[in-house]
This record gives sequence, C-alpha cells and structure tokens, in this order.
Amino acid sequence: MLNKFLGKFSKDLGIDLGTRNTLVYTSEKGIVINEPSVVAVNKRTDEILAVGEEAKEMIGKTPSHIQAVKPLVEGVISDFEVTEKMLKYFIDKVHSESFTLIPRPRVVVGIPLDITEVEKKAVEDAVKSAGARQVFLIEESMAAAIGARLPVAEATATMIVDIGGGTTEISVISLGGVVTWKTLRIAGNEMDANIVEYIREEFSILTGEQLAEKVKIKIGSAVPLKEPMEMEVRGRDLINGLPKAIIISDSQVREAISKTINQIIENIKITLETTPPELVSDIYEHGIVLAGGGALLRGIDKAIAQATKIPVRIADDPLTCVVRGTGILLSDPELLEKITSPSFDEI
Ligand code: ADP
Ligand code: MG
Repeated sequence: MLNKFLGKFSKDLGIDLGTRNTLVYTSEKGIVINEPSVVAVNKRTDEILAVGEEAKEMIGKTPSHIQAVKPLVEGVISDFEVTEKMLKYFIDKVHSESFTLIPRPRVVVGIPLDITEVEKKAVEDAVKSAGARQVFLIEESMAAAIGARLPVAEATATMIVDIGGGTTEISVISLGGVVTWKTLRIAGNEMDANIVEYIREEFSILTGEQLAEKVKIKIGSAVPLKEPMEMEVRGRDLINGLPKAIIISDSQVREAISKTINQIIENIKITLETTPPELVSDIYEHGIVLAGGGALLRGIDKAIAQATKIPVRIADDPLTCVVRGTGILLSDPELLEKITSPSFDEI
C-alpha cells in the first residue's frame, strides 16, 4: 500500500549494467545516462576519482597509481565495491536533478543469464546500497526482447541474440520465460582482439584494442561489401620499434573477425538444436532478432540468415534495447509481475 503511494512520487529507474556501457532510464525522461562502465580509482587511497565518460578519458593518461577499473567482466560483477560506487554515482546523478525530497526509487535491473544466486544477490545488494527501495532483477535478454517489442508473454517463441562487449547471449523466449539459452564469452571485445592479432601477424605492427574497435566500427563487416573500404592504421613497428602506418581493407578485417562471427553462428545453431521443435517452427516463422552493439556490425544479420536459413532482423537502436525494455517494465506492472520476482524486504 505504502509502496503504491511512494511509487507515485519516486523516480523509478531501469538500469542496464553492461560490461561495456551502463544505461539508466527514468519513467519521466527516458534514457538519462549512457556512459562507459568504467571507474577511475586512486590505488593508494582507494578513492573514486571519476566515473563513466570522464573515467574513460583518463585511461592511459594518468599516473600509475590511478587505475581505470572496469568493474564488470563478462557481464558479471568482478569488483563489487567499485560496482556499488559506480551505481550510486549514476543513481545520485539522476536524483540530484530534482529539488524535491523524493522517496528512494524502485529499480529494474538487467542481469546476465548464467549468473549464480550469489552473484544475483551481489547485484541486488549493490543496487540497494546505492539507494534503491525495491529491486527487480530481470534477465537482460528478456529486457532486450521487451525493448525490441517482441511478444514475450505470448505462447509463441522468439529468439533474441544480444551481442555485447564481453558476452553474446542467445535465448529463446516464450510465455514470459527464457526456455533455452546459451551464453558465450565472446562478443565485440573478442572481435577487437582478433583485429589486433591480425595486424600484428600480417603487418608486424602493434596496435591497441581501442584502435582496433575503431577499425571494426568504420570498415568491419560479416559479409562482403558492395563497395570496398579501407582505413589507415598507425601502430608500432615490431621490428624496429618505430611508429608506422599501414592500410587495412574491409576484406582483411572480415578475415580477422570471421573466427568470432563463425563461433556466434555455430552457437545459434546449437541453441536451435536444443530448442523444442514446436518453438523452432515459431522461430522460423518470426525470425531471429539481434540486439547489443554487435548487431551494428555490417552484414551480421545477413551472415546469420544465410547460415541458419532463418530471417534475421536487427532491433531498432540495438545498443539501448535492454534499458528501454526495463523502462517498458516500469510502466507495465502486470508484465513486471509476470516475469520478475521482487526483492523481499519491501517497505
Ligand atoms: P554491453 O552490453 O556488454 O555493455 P553493448 O551492447 O553496449 O555491450 O555493445 C558494445 C559492443 O558493441 C562493443 O564491443 C562495441 O565495439 C560494439 N559496437 C558498437 N557499435 C558498433 C558498430 N557500429 N559496429 C560493430 N560493433 C559495434
Ligand atoms: Mg548488454
């Protein structure tokens, strides 16, 4: 009862705690935060110096005792304390914009599928100690499917493939639940690492992963392009240690990342094989939906469609699918109740 009353006044939040980016949604304003999941910590004093964009900018430019920490590795909280502080920073940032004394928010937060009970509790505790009144945990892939406006509560199966930074989650959803799923520890970061390795082996040039990511975004693709593209890459010559520039083509980048793309496709096939036949026929009919930043790789939809013979669609704005899904849940209590369990200690 009191909760219902408080709910009218508090700013409820939806959070996508990604390995790469953290996004926060409020029912009033939509997406209010979209920043890298990075925290700059002073290792001597354990003091937090910056969070998000500001912390990312400090990477590589700070004295050695200042460290940029990515508290989420492969979708799971690897540094609880830093995650909690990062969340508190983001939640405070949203709330400080309001001058009135508002009650603590209810928070819907997306979690990975292969998370343990202990890890679930850690996420819940982090969100609570960051100021939440009530926490709802929801599978990220479910949130992504809701964000992509898939009919998750109906008796028809849909497949969603979320290709993020650290993990790819492949899941089949029906009747408000995840029926079969597979999590891979390979996704966007792995493609960046593939490019670094390729440039080192083919050109004897050492480059960083941030630069490799730029190459991937600018000229990367999963199937041959209509118009060839190329890009200049600067790095350190491994033979004489001097800076050197080379030109890399789209077909070279495609070759570099093909291993990762093929692994994603193989695992989609494996997931389909372990899905009950009635559900597979739904998926053939309605297609596979792609979410996460990796869905933006040129031609990834075509490559998956060719290999599986199933139509593939990229969700609108795939980078924000999960957080928009949590936002839809905030405004749809019935659906929220169907697919989540609230934390126990309600007021
Ligand atoms: P997470 O949920 O793990 O935080 P995101 O869904 O935010 O991850 O996706 C981040 C990944 O998407 C990164 O690996 C990034 O390089 C990749 N990405 C972003 N834009 C593009 C693009 N246009 N082409 C290919 N990959 C992209
Ligand atoms: Mg994600």
